[in-house]
Amino acid sequence: MDDLKHGTRNKRGDWAPHKPVEYAPLFVFPMRAKAILKWVPHYFFPWNVIFAASAVAYWAWVIPSTETMQTLSIGWAAWLYAVNAVCVLLFYGAFEMHLYALKRQANRFKYNGKFPAENKSKAFWFERQNVDNILRTFLSGVTVWTAIEVGMLWAYANGYAPWLTFTDSPWTLAIVALVVPIIHEFHFFCVHRLIHTRLLYRWVHSVHHNSVNPSPWSSLSMHPVEHLLYFGTAFYHLILPSNPIIMLYQLHYAGFGAIPGHVGFDKVEIGEEKTIDSHAYAHYLHHKYFEVNYGDALVPLDKWFGTWHDGSAEGDAQMQARYRKRKEKLAARKKDGEAREAAE
Ligand SMILES: [Zn+2]
Ligand SMILES: [Zn+2]
Repeated sequence: MDDLKHGTRNKRGDWAPHKPVEYAPLFVFPMRAKAILKWVPHYFFPWNVIFAASAVAYWAWVIPSTETMQTLSIGWAAWLYAVNAVCVLLFYGAFEMHLYALKRQANRFKYNGKFPAENKSKAFWFERQNVDNILRTFLSGVTVWTAIEVGMLWAYANGYAPWLTFTDSPWTLAIVALVVPIIHEFHFFCVHRLIHTRLLYRWVHSVHHNSVNPSPWSSLSMHPVEHLLYFGTAFYHLILPSNPIIMLYQLHYAGFGAIPGHVGFDKVEIGEEKTIDSHAYAHYLHHKYFEVNYGDALVPLDKWFGTWHDGSAEGDAQMQARYRKRKEKLAARKKDGEAREAAE
């Protein structure tokens, strides 16, 4: 497929889409009914359906009986860890294999012209991005994910979390299921903004940002504290009128859903003519510029807080203006401090 019909490639080989990134029309006022109708299928297919279906499959085949879950034990926790690890290996591995190992679509639709493995870097364990990212994913990522999952299931089994059934409250649960991505967006934006503060960035979030050129395994390559905050989305279901399957959907949305944002390609080619949108450009720009796009472009939080970058020249100019303003502010503050010191 000719990716230059959809975007441009610069001298360095970096590809960028023609169209700036847009927010979901759901929160664009005045509301445009036609745009919303056109967008609705994208809200479900393919990603959200995959994460919701995997939660249902877990409930049917993986999650132990309520009786077992009433007591915490290594046995069922280890079983859940094993299943999560295998699913991550298969799901993440499929993208890695298709796009990065076999390079089936070469660099068509690839934002960064380079493939990460081409450079060794001291920022990573063993100086290799992939080795570092994979170890962090399984040592801490899947472990924290499983620990929260076990804790939540134990809470459900013991009546500590509101557990509605699909037969008694189908509408309430349908609404909660529909807002799962919105809960994630709010939570992720807040947590992400928090770990971009100076100290937390240095100690926690810089681990994730070591992957300036993200690839599938970068998705869950985080500091354990970030894993804890990130998978903390499940805790909303301790107070929401919900159900363990929807709580699992929330976790899968975070765990498996991290991948589309980090594949590094705008479209994943399936066969000759078909492609799937990754919706990754906003987060790619975050990895490139650090202080833009804390959210994932579902709710216009970045627009409201002035940190939005849509990939266009105007987006770039706004970001530069913001950086300049901050620099001036810091310089003025420094000058003030020096004047005060001289006066004392
Ligand atoms: Zn990221
Ligand atoms: Zn960040």
